[in-house]
Amino acid sequence: MDFDTYQKLSRKTAFYPTVGKSFVYPTLGLAGEVGEVVEKVKKAFRDDGGRMTKLRKEEIKKELGDVLWYLAQISTELKFSFSDVAKLNINKLKSRRERGTLHGSGDNRSIKRQKKKPWVFLQLKSILLKREHHMLKVPVFH
Ligand SMILES: [Mg+2]
Repeated sequence: MDFDTYQKLSRKTAFYPTVGKSFVYPTLGLAGEVGEVVEKVKKAFRDDGGRMTKLRKEEIKKELGDVLWYLAQISTELKFSFSDVAKLNINKLKSRRERGTLHGSGDNRSIKRQKKKPWVFLQLKSILLKREHHMLKVPVFH
């Protein structure tokens, strides 16, 4: 399914109080759904030694869908084509890769590579180093 089709279909299920009038409600919803993804990952550490079970992966997949839904609603409220949002992001990442600035932080990067690792990476590395078994491969977010 392409992004614009998803945006159109998902809009048929948008019944929040300010639908068509404001991006605030879906933005708050997005934050909540991102929290649900994070909570599932946290529980993998709390309950399963960092292992990602099949059931938990399915739960996370559903939450990612909820995240996607809110992203589509925010895009609609701001009159963005969802495919344009996706294309803009890919083009930004492509440009960063070509300039060698994929690492680091900020939307308008000008430095080649930051030596300092992100705080989240350092925290996760600290957690993982304390565990000898059942390691979850944790992606490093850029
Ligand atoms: Mg959810």
